[in-house]
Formats: sequence, C-alpha cells, structure tokens
Amino acid sequence: MDGILTGKTLVVMGVANQRSIAWGCTEALIAQGARVILTYQNDRLKQSLQRFVAKDQPMVACDVADDDQIEQAFATIKAEYGEIDGLIHAIAYADKATLEGDFVETTKAGYDLAQNISAYSLIAIARAARPMLKPGASLVTLTYFGSERAVPNYNMMGVAKAALEANVRYLARDLGPQEIRVNAISAGAVKTLAVTGIHEHRQLLKLSQNMTVDGVPVKTREIGNVAAFLLSDLSTGMTGDVIYVDKGVHLS
Ligand code: NAD
Repeated sequence: MDGILTGKTLVVMGVANQRSIAWGCTEALIAQGARVILTYQNDRLKQSLQRFVAKDQPMVACDVADDDQIEQAFATIKAEYGEIDGLIHAIAYADKATLEGDFVETTKAGYDLAQNISAYSLIAIARAARPMLKPGASLVTLTYFGSERAVPNYNMMGVAKAALEANVRYLARDLGPQEIRVNAISAGAVKTLAVTGIHEHRQLLKLSQNMTVDGVPVKTREIGNVAAFLLSDLSTGMTGDVIYVDKGVHLS
C-alpha cells in the first residue's frame, strides 16, 4: 500500500532502543512507505539495535561529537544508498551535573558539551548532508518546551534546545533556495534513556502528564506520525517552524 513517504529514502539519527522517540519515528516512516537508514552512536548501541531491527536494516555509524565522523557517515550513505529525501535528528546529550540544581552553577565544559551534541550537531549534519539532499528534502529535529520556560532541572538542556530552535530558523533560510525545509517538533515528555539523565525526572514526567489535555502522555508513534508529515510533500509550505506534539502541555 502506498503511503505519504513512498519512494523516499530517509535517515533517522538517534535510535538507542525501542523507547526512543527516533524509533517511534522510524516505525511511522516505514509505515508510510519510506526506506529508512539508521545511524548509531557507537558499537554498543549498534548491538542494541540489532536485537530489534529487521535483519536487512541499513545502519551507519555516526558519533556527532566528531565533525569528521559526520562527514564520513554521509559519504557512506551516499555511496551505499544514493541521494536522500531528508532526515530526523533526534540526538541530545548533557552532563548529568548540568541537569540538576542551580543553573547558575553550570560550568563552561558542561555548557559546551550540551551545545555541541544537542544543538551544533544539527548544523554539522545539515552541512554534511547538503550535497546529497534532493530538492524537496526535509530535515526534522526534536526539541522540548524547556527552551521557552525555566523547567526545574532541565537547566542546560533548555538552553541547548533554545539554540537548536534558532538553528532551525537560520538553516531554513540558508537551505530554502535549494528547496530544503527545516523544522522542529517540540515533543511532550516521554520516558526515554535521555530523560532518565535529568534529576528527579519522575516528577518532570508526572507534571507533564498532568498538563496534557487528557492526562495521557504523548506516544512516540504520535510524534513519529507528525515527523512523517513534516518529511512528506504534504508539508511543502512549512519551514523554520517549531510544531508542538505534546497533547497540549504548552497550553498551560
Ligand atoms: P534517547 O536516549 O532514546 O535518544 C537520544 C539519542 O541521542 C540516543 O540514540 C543517543 O545515542 C544519541 N546521542 C547522544 N549523544 C550522541 C552522539 N555524540 N552522537 C550520536 N548520537 C548521540 O532519548 P529521546 O528522548 O528519544 O531523545 C531524542 C530527542 O528527543 C532528543 O533530542 C531529546 O532531547 C528530544 N526530546 C525528548 C523528549 C522526551 O521527553 N524524551 C521530549 C522532547 C524532546
């Protein structure tokens, strides 16, 4: 059966396990007919992925801490799978010490690390992918409304997400003439590996759940379905946007 992504080849970066938002996205993209290439951070995560992905699932190594690895990963993708129609960047990391307590105690090293992995990496990825992105391609990243509000303990990641959202706007303007769109999904809180790094994350998840319109947290597949729309030709009029997929948490 044809879907809104039939005939498209898309890269998904950031699957760690089946709870990952990137995995919910992968399932949604495949359901809509896309061919998906996964990237993984390191060999340990590659082994974790091999436990649940299809045997013939294309996978390429890419640790975004290193610009050369990013270039290498996209060169490999082009050589092995050809040009691509877009990608999902679902990657973030911050030192635990910058995700608790007083934000004023943030160190320069902690600041740099979170910004590099969680915000700068989108720029490096867009640059590396640019020569192999087809006209009409779409880039999607994941953010959280801690970029706009001072959410307890989200601290450094909130600042990194604010930078990430600004990156989306500047990249959208740069890449627009090449017919490449760039958008972000601001997702509601989901219990993933990344969230467990935040001090008192159970309270954060509970608070977020209570703030949804129906008391039920957003599902990764619901986030993935919106990602599928943003990667499809149904959304050609949208770029530089941040779209909430949080079941109304941002309304409060
Ligand atoms: P996750 O732990 O499943 O995924 C995070 C991914 O980032 C992992 O696959 C990890 O390998 C990858 N990563 C970290 N450092 C990397 C590096 N140096 N190189 C390559 N990959 C690296 O958690 P998640 O919650 O699914 O996170 C995905 C994205 O969604 C993140 O940007 C996160 O901030 C965002 N987000 C999460 C929530 C939530 O509540 N879980 C809400 C809104 C936005």
